[in-house]
Amino acid sequence: MTSFDYFMPTRILFGSGKLDEFTRYLPGKRALLVTSAGGSMKKYGYLDRVCSLLAKAGAEYVVFDRILPNPIKSHVMEGAELARQKGCDFVIGLGGGSSIDSAKSIAVMAVNPGDYWDYISGGSGKGQRIIAAPLPVVAITTTAGTGTEADPWTVVTKEDTNEKIGFGCDQTFPVLSVVDPDLMASVPAHLTAYQGFDALFHSVEGYIANCATPVSDIYALKSIELISRYLPIAVNMGNNKDARAMVALANTLAGFVESTSSCTSEHALEHALSANHPNIPHGAGLIMISLEYFRFFTPYCNDRYIQMSKAMGYGHSAEPSDFIKALADLQRKCGVNELRMSDYGVSSEELPSLVANAQATMGGLFLKDPTPLSDENALGIFQRSYL
Ligand SMILES: [Zn+2]
Repeated sequence: MTSFDYFMPTRILFGSGKLDEFTRYLPGKRALLVTSAGGSMKKYGYLDRVCSLLAKAGAEYVVFDRILPNPIKSHVMEGAELARQKGCDFVIGLGGGSSIDSAKSIAVMAVNPGDYWDYISGGSGKGQRIIAAPLPVVAITTTAGTGTEADPWTVVTKEDTNEKIGFGCDQTFPVLSVVDPDLMASVPAHLTAYQGFDALFHSVEGYIANCATPVSDIYALKSIELISRYLPIAVNMGNNKDARAMVALANTLAGFVESTSSCTSEHALEHALSANHPNIPHGAGLIMISLEYFRFFTPYCNDRYIQMSKAMGYGHSAEPSDFIKALADLQRKCGVNELRMSDYGVSSEELPSLVANAQATMGGLFLKDPTPLSDENALGIFQRSYL
């Protein structure tokens, strides 16, 4: 019999112009405003806009703008220290997944003792339970990729050991998320593609995971359909507001999938890749291994692959392998079919160590695969993907 546990406690403000409404639901009086080091939030005026909305609502804020594209533990500890010093009672993440994930981790460490890695399960983490409830988190997303605005997960790298590990619990769901597609118009084409594929894989993995539920299936298939239809338009015509909105919706739905099902080992394998090569954007790393990864599972997911092919526009699909064709097709349409690991400095000799890293840090995701993936099979996927 089907059984599941559904918990989705985030208020989501979705739609064009919704940023203007977010101060109606502020969970505190003084925010730590966490954003990227790159300066794009300033450049496009989003930081100023958020600051002036906060001021208008009578809320105070302290800006912490040090976050890297692959966020690191030392910045989590620094941000948490600043939140404590300034007496912040909530945290806002403004930007892409890296800023929002960092906001979640900072919210944990602002009120809990010790080191962030004390609470990480996997790798050299100590796996302790957090003692105090994290500060409330507000997520304002300016990309459509990680789905972090609609899930409890945060991914941070311990930079001295190259361990990139996810963390999350019921209290790390944002209390409030703003998904305003107007804030996404400035994302360049190649990043729009990488982020869109990240969202796609959250849905695809969540759909084939052995813990998928009827609820996650609905979100996953809709998200896969929207990305297939609208991502090529958003990539090739960045100013198309409808396409941006539909990809943003697909990404939020993919966040629901992550909250109700799980990623599979594709994410563990990619984390090993980009933890060792932080110049690889997460979505790009997933794309590099995706065709071989999903080809491996074809015999074990017949009906699920057919359903996904249909969602991707293969209306009369009767062959599970159509899903691989549809995926390759979408990569071509989005101009990301020629990504090469070697262009990012990955050597073929290091592939076995990446498999070991994936197992050591995110081994739990292998348990969600539709059929067990041995180290040998995982290595085969890396080797056949290697260019
Ligand atoms: Zn991801």
